[in-house]
Amino acid sequence: MFEVKDIKETNLAENPVVAQMSKYNHEQILFCNDNATGLKAIIAVHNTILGPALGGTRMWMYNNEMEALNDVLRLSRGMTYKNAISGLNLGGGKAVIIGNSRVDKSEALFRRFGKFVNSLGGKYITAEDVGINPIDMTWVNMETNHVVGLPGKSGDPSPVTAYGVYMGMKAAAKVQFGSDSLTGKKVAVQGAGHVGEYLVEYLAKEGAKVYICDIQEDTVNRVAKQYGANVVGIDDIYDVDMDIYAPCALGATVNDETLKRLKCSIIAGSANNQLQDEAKHGKIVMDKGIIYAPDFAINAGGVINCYCEVASLSPEWSMQKSEEIYQTIYNIVSRSREANIPTYLIANQMAEERIESIGKVKLPL
Ligand code: NAD
Repeated sequence: MFEVKDIKETNLAENPVVAQMSKYNHEQILFCNDNATGLKAIIAVHNTILGPALGGTRMWMYNNEMEALNDVLRLSRGMTYKNAISGLNLGGGKAVIIGNSRVDKSEALFRRFGKFVNSLGGKYITAEDVGINPIDMTWVNMETNHVVGLPGKSGDPSPVTAYGVYMGMKAAAKVQFGSDSLTGKKVAVQGAGHVGEYLVEYLAKEGAKVYICDIQEDTVNRVAKQYGANVVGIDDIYDVDMDIYAPCALGATVNDETLKRLKCSIIAGSANNQLQDEAKHGKIVMDKGIIYAPDFAINAGGVINCYCEVASLSPEWSMQKSEEIYQTIYNIVSRSREANIPTYLIANQMAEERIESIGKVKLPL
């Protein structure tokens, strides 16, 4: 996949792949190529100190291999932090398949990919991500057992994710308002999809005043009617008179433009990569006195659900583990306030501390 120049004339450390790998200390990268099936994929194992590297497979039409590599390195590292902060015995990994998920899929391609996953001997466990559906994973499973989220197994993670978001939101409320009760609080939920709907249900049950928006008119109207929520326009959501903003649709919705409009005291939702620019917007949010519940910590219910399949635990265990997101967010936010450091940085520190301390436990006898 990569043009390999005369390796004798090149300092290997200057090779862009090796340089990228060293930058964030990735353990292993597997480049997968198979001309017969058209498979071009990269599997990145970032860190396995806490356990096997778990993270989904994404199928995406990258412009070039370097873009795919950057994505898989970034995403796999993110999984290390997410799994660590969630108290799971899992490391971080991710895979990307380069291709158009609408036209390039075949049984052969996914089975070939499954063989590559299997060649890592359980060091990497895969699952669904963007562009992948349960049937694709069933094909992968024909060649490897190192796959979770299969039909009939741990099932739809959204209820667990929504419960974790709800718990994390309550913890943020405890710090911000002095009570974790959401009764009477105005919450704007962006996206009434799988997670959004379950979240709205919890909020409505507790007596919060819920505002929702979605690009799917029938979905948003149905959810609003069922739980007594108020529908707002997809752009108007940022101007709602609200206490809590809950992004449950897209990433990067906390940005220069929306921060001028958002009148919330808390940001707590399920979407990935909510801050458009983590360093910049994480700091602005903190300086405005808004509590941002780091996305990778608050939306960990999905990976908790996967872990329950890896470790053969019950769905009840997943819900209990998700409840711990309350304490995790409470600790992150309290520490952030004490140290005047943005919450996302505190969450990273806490994840690193766990990897370091459990790494010591795992040293050979
Ligand atoms: P989903 O596709 O079921 O729901 C997303 C909803 O957002 C859809 O109804 C869609 O129509 C709507 N939407 C899209 N663009 C929008 C816009 N501009 N404005 C308003 N609504 C818009 O997805 P989901 O499973 O509910 O996940 C929601 C988010 O949470 C995603 O970012 C996902 O990556 C993240 N997440 C989900 C899980 C999980 O367990 N499902 C776990 C972790 C993170």
